[in-house]
Amino acid sequence: MSLRSRLKLLILGGTTEAYDLAQALAPRRDLAVVTSLAGRTANPRRPAGEVRVGGFGGADGLGDYLRKSDMDLVIDATHPFASRMGWNAAAACNAAGLALLRLERPPWRPGPGDQWLEFDDWIEAATLVTARTARRVLLAVGRQELVPFSGIDAAWFLIRSVEAPAPMPPFRHAELLLARGPFTLEGEHALLAERRIDLIVCKNSGGTATDAKLAAARELGIAVAMKRRPARPGVPVVDSVAAALAWLDSVQPAVGYQRGV
Ligand code: NAP
Repeated sequence: MSLRSRLKLLILGGTTEAYDLAQALAPRRDLAVVTSLAGRTANPRRPAGEVRVGGFGGADGLGDYLRKSDMDLVIDATHPFASRMGWNAAAACNAAGLALLRLERPPWRPGPGDQWLEFDDWIEAATLVTARTARRVLLAVGRQELVPFSGIDAAWFLIRSVEAPAPMPPFRHAELLLARGPFTLEGEHALLAERRIDLIVCKNSGGTATDAKLAAARELGIAVAMKRRPARPGVPVVDSVAAALAWLDSVQPAVGYQRGV
């Protein structure tokens, strides 16, 4: 089977779900899969199939790429907080008349005993930290989102990040903890207790790699300031790789027929 006798699928990646989807599609002879990574992390896990790295240059750039590379289908499996890419994908696929699916893991939900304070932007979260007079804060927000907290002198911050912020914003009282999930409940409980954390600030990423801090916070009676997910364009959404595979099976015959494949 020549390459062009297969449909071409672009996966917008950078998540476990995108990686798992590319792995699941690796044996398929009816699809040629390209995963796109933004290029933010130094040593990303390389998914099966072809990989391209770097931004496209907005919705128009993505549109050009889709046309030049003769893509048939797109699955946006970027992180729940990577919304700009989602809006660009919706605009480009709409203009090109391509089918687009959003693959997004379910959000975390508060349960009995949780003390969540939900917010929409980082300035609101910084105000929350000050208003609650939190003294010792675990900041698990990603290294790009630290600046709004760096002017708060009344609290001490434990900044947990996969990679070091460069540059590090000018915090007066902070410690940097470089760590990559998955984290265990036992480990998170010990960390929160030993560092006497009284507030966690994080975003509603969902998934199981980093949710142990929420269970540990519940056990210890610690409040959690949780950033809500950003707004998304109205495209079909699934929350698992299995459902994305089912969507592919449902749209592929129609797309293949249109393309004469
Ligand atoms: P974003 O705000 O939605 O996107 C910013 C720009 O980065 C996009 O406009 C696009 O540039 C480029 N980009 C994003 N994802 C891309 C991809 N998969 N392939 C090629 N270019 C991409 O995204 P972000 O929050 O900066 O996240 C960047 C990447 O890190 C995403 O792939 C995401 O899945 C991953 N990630 C993000 C988070 C998070 O908390 N935000 C956490 C874990 C992983 P152009 O406009 O030039 O095309």
